[in-house]
Amino acid sequence: MRIIQFTDRQEKIIDIVKENEPVTSETIAQKLKLTRATLRPDLSILTMMGILDARPKVGYFYSGKSSLDFLSEKIKEIKVSEVKSMPVVVEEETTVYDAIVTLFLEDTGTIFVTSNGFLTGVVSRKDFLKSAIGGIDINKMPVGVIMTRMPNIVVTKEEESVLEAAQKIIDHQVDNLPIVEDIEIEKDKIEYKVIGRISKTNITRLFVDLGNAE
Ligand code: ADP
Repeated sequence: MRIIQFTDRQEKIIDIVKENEPVTSETIAQKLKLTRATLRPDLSILTMMGILDARPKVGYFYSGKSSLDFLSEKIKEIKVSEVKSMPVVVEEETTVYDAIVTLFLEDTGTIFVTSNGFLTGVVSRKDFLKSAIGGIDINKMPVGVIMTRMPNIVVTKEEESVLEAAQKIIDHQVDNLPIVEDIEIEKDKIEYKVIGRISKTNITRLFVDLGNAE
């Protein structure tokens, strides 16, 4: 993944144009103590990228796009499919005890629950703690009883942007979203097949990758 990074010289050109617009390539060259020929490739790149606007016989204008605009555009382009991870899934009949064991074995905080392979719920650490306080028999109780159930599950799709998924995570105050695929089981009856997971950790990792991008 690569975010646009300007060279030192390009940054200087942008600053000169910002302060002096409209400014000719001759003036920019003088200020940088370079020849116009040396500057030409940088000016073409900056114009093609839409950072500078070149008007014949007038000079260069700053078109207002900053590195931050590029970062924000880049983030909007990244799809959920690019940062997804494997989901941890159990069937509804699984006992709460077995689901807790799965939670530890898979080193996760959230498990997606299915019935006949289709998403019916989500169970997380807090749900397990609540069930412990409630004093249920975790060896007998199926996980389907303590989970958050459809249609209250917030989902995402592979083609959705990571930004939209992150917004859902914030809005609904959850740690994970199941990535689902629509399966039409009968006419006009859609069920969700779980094909992945996006978590706060995935998004934090993306943030670090973007920050370290060269
Ligand atoms: P934790 O239990 O570790 O705080 P969450 O904040 O993700 O984890 O879960 C809080 C509550 O939200 C739990 O009751 C859980 O069942 C529910 N939940 C978790 N993920 C989702 C989701 N994607 N859609 C709807 N509810 C969810």
